[in-house]
Amino acid sequence: MKLDTIHMRYLNADDWRVLQAVENGSRSHEVVPTKLIGQIANLKTGMGSANRAISDLAKLNLISKLRNAKYDGYRLTYNGFDYLALKTFAQKKTLVELGTTIGVGKESDIYAGKDGQGNERVLKIHRLGRVSFRTVKNKRDYLRNKEAQSWMHLSKLAAEKEYEFMTILYENGFEIPRPLDYSRHCVVMELVEGFPMRQLREHFQYKKLYSQLMQFMVKLANHGLIHCDYNEYNIMIREDGSYDSATEPGFLVIDFPQCISINHVDAEFYFKRDVECIRRFFKRRFGYSPKDDSMMLDTDGYGDGFRYAYPVFSRDVQRIGDLDMQVKASGYRSEKKTELEDALGSMRRDYDDTEEDDEKEEEEEEEEYGSELEFSESESDTDSVNEKIVQALVEGEELETDKFG
Ligand code: ADP
Ligand code: MG
Repeated sequence: MKLDTIHMRYLNADDWRVLQAVENGSRSHEVVPTKLIGQIANLKTGMGSANRAISDLAKLNLISKLRNAKYDGYRLTYNGFDYLALKTFAQKKTLVELGTTIGVGKESDIYAGKDGQGNERVLKIHRLGRVSFRTVKNKRDYLRNKEAQSWMHLSKLAAEKEYEFMTILYENGFEIPRPLDYSRHCVVMELVEGFPMRQLREHFQYKKLYSQLMQFMVKLANHGLIHCDYNEYNIMIREDGSYDSATEPGFLVIDFPQCISINHVDAEFYFKRDVECIRRFFKRRFGYSPKDDSMMLDTDGYGDGFRYAYPVFSRDVQRIGDLDMQVKASGYRSEKKTELEDALGSMRRDYDDTEEDDEKEEEEEEEEYGSELEFSESESDTDSVNEKIVQALVEGEELETDKFG
């Protein structure tokens, strides 16, 4: 799904009002009746203008016309949903410019951007449901029959969750990029100066890095949370000089919507899987695979020269905080299943399927590495970042902004 902001600057205040009326109407109607859109928008210029705006928005594919058994009406499209979120950011000046794609995740798109002061930002747009269209083997019942509308709803819940996790982790001093804003299915955060660990080929202190990554997991778990997708794609290695190496480790962790509580019934399983992901990476990349030998030095920590080779849930995790309860992470109490939990649970489990592909991936990796480097070089070219966009669009009236919770 491409983010196409080209028409954004041409929308007038009436268009925005009507677009938002369709969004508001969708809370009570799957297909929002044309008349209701007009009523909610309540344009000073009357119903005629509303109809004109509706037809313009439909031409731009920001809303789409649908007929149900009883009446004609409209639905917000993903495109329209994107526009509303971007407009909200632009008004708050948390994101006023959008640049190039810097990552396409399994269920998200990531863009570079800038805020009102020219600071570099990252926009993460959640796109749940996309996987179902890309890989046949991941098709599950709930995926098959989902309408775009409920995917938008779930994407919004995922963005909210991620923003919530990030906020509390950042406030508690965890090594993650600073979250700055969210609206609908989008999160704005600090840009990490660095690159995903997957691109790391050499590191002068890789054993120390290993140890710090394991420590991060244990610290997170001691505060009640397990990442559940802790691997070389979601660990950003920071550029030298972009942080204080005397006091901070050289990485930041990203990608949080699937986090769970250490009280989750499968907590131990996911913790172990996270540990194994890091171990597999260090073994493959650096031939580094410390063996568990608790007879060694009596120093806390993990890896060579420490007491333990790697953390073990039942031995090492001791609750000292309750961030999981504060953010109501999945499993923090006897589980009340929600639709979001179904979707996220499925994202978590999906990961299993990829492990069998590991060897194949290993083989393909070298090839891919070349293109990855090219990619990161071209993307760091700041001229291209300014390509276009959401330039403080705003003649219109204030949009109602999304509230948390
Ligand atoms: P997904 O859930 O789709 O995996 P991620 O949050 O992991 O999405 O982001 C996907 C990719 O985008 C990352 O691997 C990284 O390359 C890039 N990325 C994400 N957030 C940032 C950030 N704050 N700064 C720099 N790059 C980022
Ligand atoms: Mg990721």
